[in-house]
Amino acid sequence: MLEKQFNPNFVYNGIVHFYMDKKNYSKKKANEIAQAIVQREIQRRVCKNELCKHFSYDHIRNNEICLIVDCKCREFTK
Ligand SMILES: [Zn+2]
Ligand SMILES: [Zn+2]
Repeated sequence: MLEKQFNPNFVYNGIVHFYMDKKNYSKKKANEIAQAIVQREIQRRVCKNELCKHFSYDHIRNNEICLIVDCKCREFTK
């Protein structure tokens, strides 16, 4: 089973609403937190192979050969 595709906008909005509605943070503060979290989540999912830099879900089972055409990556690099 492939991991569900990571949707930054969906996650971002969810975090902003969580901090505004449940924690009573200002919109500005909630946006700053959401940006930091989403950036970190994206980094976690990007292959660190210099020739690749594609997302984990572009790799077979999120950690094997990259499926992007012409990409030489053979293993997802954390
Ligand atoms: Zn790749
Ligand atoms: Zn890769």
